Amino acid sequence: MKNAKIVQNFGRNLRFKPKYIYSPSNRVELIDILQKHNNGKIRVVASKHSWSDLIETEDVLIDMSHFDYIRVQEKNHGTIVTVGAGCKVKHLLAELSRKGLTIPSVGLIAEQTIAGATATGTHGSGKHSLSHYIESLQVACFDETGKSAKIVDIIEGEPLQAARCSLGCLGVVVELTLPCIPQYFVQEKSTFCKTIEEVLVLEEKAPLQQFFLMPQSWYFFAQERLVSSELKRRGFAAMYRIYWFLVIDLGMHLVMKLIVSILRSRKLVHIFFRSIVPYLVFKNWVVTDRSDRALVMKHELFRHLELEAFVVRSRVVEAASFVKDILQYADSSNHQLSELSIERLQKAQLLESLSSIKGRFTHHYPICFRRVMADDTLISMASGASEDWYAISFITYQEPRDEFQALATFLANSMFELFQARIHWGKWFPQNSDQLNQLYPKIDTFRDVCCRHDPNGVFRNRFVEEKLGF
Ligand SMILES: Cc1cc2nc3c(=O)[nH]c(=O)nc-3n(C[C@H](O)[C@H](O)[C@H](O)COP(=O)(O)OP(=O)(O)OC[C@H]3O[C@@H](n4cnc5c(N)ncnc54)[C@H](O)[C@@H]3O)c2cc1C
Repeated sequence: MKNAKIVQNFGRNLRFKPKYIYSPSNRVELIDILQKHNNGKIRVVASKHSWSDLIETEDVLIDMSHFDYIRVQEKNHGTIVTVGAGCKVKHLLAELSRKGLTIPSVGLIAEQTIAGATATGTHGSGKHSLSHYIESLQVACFDETGKSAKIVDIIEGEPLQAARCSLGCLGVVVELTLPCIPQYFVQEKSTFCKTIEEVLVLEEKAPLQQFFLMPQSWYFFAQERLVSSELKRRGFAAMYRIYWFLVIDLGMHLVMKLIVSILRSRKLVHIFFRSIVPYLVFKNWVVTDRSDRALVMKHELFRHLELEAFVVRSRVVEAASFVKDILQYADSSNHQLSELSIERLQKAQLLESLSSIKGRFTHHYPICFRRVMADDTLISMASGASEDWYAISFITYQEPRDEFQALATFLANSMFELFQARIHWGKWFPQNSDQLNQLYPKIDTFRDVCCRHDPNGVFRNRFVEEKLGF
């Protein structure tokens, strides 16, 4: 057992002090901990990158970082990898790459643990969430009496669908197995577009693309990405990585921090996005690089807060236009909302709550759109639709964060009413249990599976109890 101390997440929006913190080094120790606290409240913590209150507990916190093994095996004409829950995604990617392999999907950073990333449906662009690909898991949980701790293999059916994206509610994930795919290279090119329709057309030839709505100038910037037919770095890829790190990961973020948190100048945000940012990007630089380098960035360098809303593909054009309208309205009290937005907000009885955001916050970060294929889980944000989803992210570097949180709450509520938007479980999370019951048709099944593995609700904290309506 470690000395209990204050635990803080990456975003520093969550602080709590558990009574006990454990870091078991093997299965026997893990089972002993569960047995000892079978009447208590247990949560697992990983890289602490979530902004929602998922890891919060006043009682027992378990850190699985000693479970960091990686075992690659051949199975049924394919290669699979079994990974200890506490292994960081970046270590998994590096180890697989040495063998000419990789995993089918990766998010924007690789600092999360494999169990932490999959527990919240972490995703990149153009593929399914990482959770979708899990073939089996080992989970430490309780028997039907809730008294005896045990480790179970989850390999199929509803338990597997629930465990793939479990928010830590089924028990402690010990290890999980994913398919491996051959390492691939990604070709990337930056393109500017005036409309979202133009950007979406690019997806046909660039299925891995992600794109950004640039605040204040309101054009779209696409990172057209496709799997290259070659297994070679091209287009001065090493130089491109250095440029991206220095100019975007470091330079752009430093300037933004300076403008929004130190100078606190809304006017400079306008100037920065209208007159400087367009010149930071090289339009005709076509570069090819290994997937684990091309698909990630150093987004963890500066502390920030993020809300991410998922809408289905058939609503993404309308959603983008609504988002732009609302962000302009939040920026300037003189902005006249479109008639369509007013009509929709009136129907949803949200016109009055507009006053909480009017002219109060200048959005200062590109709004990222990523395509996530519908996945085979019970409650990940991309579960249960017959079409692809688009994850639309809103990030702030400004502190204090009250004005952003008011805007994010308005966006979450209005996008729920207008587009049935789902909020990323691992990000800032203002949705309530009524909304979640409407959004997730399989939430009852999820609750049932959780109760079978944890009859006394030991693995639930206030957040999951309240949001999931246990
Ligand atoms: C800079 C940054 C960039 C990000 N980029 C992306 C992105 O590109 N795409 C995306 O979808 N998300 C992204 N996220 C969100 C992030 O991927 C998720 O919040 C993820 O869950 C964090 O993983 P973690 O290892 O930090 O887990 P934590 O935040 O520590 O925990 C997350 C959840 O996993 C549970 N958990 C962890 N380990 C176990 C275990 N062994 N057994 C049971 N439950 C467990 C915890 O209880 C908790 O419920 C980003 C976050 C940050 C800070």
